Amino acid sequence: MPNALPPAPAAIEGRVSIVRLHGEACFDCGAVNRTLRAAGHVVVHGSNRVWEISTCGCRRIGTAA
Ligand SMILES: [Zn+2]
Repeated sequence: MPNALPPAPAAIEGRVSIVRLHGEACFDCGAVNRTLRAAGHVVVHGSNRVWEISTCGCRRIGTAA
């Protein structure tokens, strides 16, 4: 059963490294040598572009505990 209501992309400021936006590095800590997993989507403030981000698991984004 699909999620009824996927979390809306988190709006962020536009100073995040592009590799983090591309999901090539952990969005939170910037790690590139760890296993990265999809961590939802963000939009850069002032843009409509939605980015698929990843994290190494150091922190969860967009998930209610
Ligand atoms: Zn991390």
